[in-house]
Amino acid sequence: MCRHLGWLGEPVSIASLVLDPPSGLRVQSYAPRRQKHGLMNADGWGAGFFDLGGQERRWRSASPLWGDVSFASVAPVLRSGCVVAAVRSATVGMPLEASASAPFSDGSWLLSHNGVVDRGVLPVSRTAESTVDSAMLAALIFERGLDHLADTVVEVGSADPSARLNILAANGSRLLATTWGDTLSVLRRDDGVVVASEPYDDHPDWQDIPDRHLVDVSAGQVSLTPLKGSS
Ligand code: GLN
Repeated sequence: MCRHLGWLGEPVSIASLVLDPPSGLRVQSYAPRRQKHGLMNADGWGAGFFDLGGQERRWRSASPLWGDVSFASVAPVLRSGCVVAAVRSATVGMPLEASASAPFSDGSWLLSHNGVVDRGVLPVSRTAESTVDSAMLAALIFERGLDHLADTVVEVGSADPSARLNILAANGSRLLATTWGDTLSVLRRDDGVVVASEPYDDHPDWQDIPDRHLVDVSAGQVSLTPLKGSS
């Protein structure tokens, strides 16, 4: 089970979101606090963001985030108002390669999947970036369109009842997330909104999102909707 983090707000440095917080993704790569599946996230990482000109950028790796001194050197000067980052704990049998690390992209959206899904219930896609379940799921979500994220998650969840489908996606002006089997928290800051698998610090404003919900963030507003089929 991986951990992911999204940011939508004023431009801030990637390091301030991912590397600097006391329990940020860097620390979660070896000591997550709320992870239910897997002990650490050492199988890769990815940081995707929209630069100040609106261009999508990605930096992904199959190595542990905690040891990446090149990223640590550059991340303080990478600034963005829209970020999707993740650290990966590969599901047994899945490929270990940079292209299997989130975020995945269709050119407009960056997408991370925290969970597992039976690849047999997903259509074969020629556009998936890797054979990892998350890339195949991302390809399906991209094909259906992010406006239909909730329906796609419910449909895949009914096809594979043991699937865990926490999705996080952003396109520069909107951030979407689902809870389906794992943890998610939201922090509203004065300068923007953080959506993360687990809080990166102990600030009292972190709000835990109940299971089987859709979180939709845009223009500083956060809305929460139960997913169909939730109990
Ligand atoms: N199933 C995905 C993978 O193998 C995601 C795993 C996870 O959430 N830990 O990479």
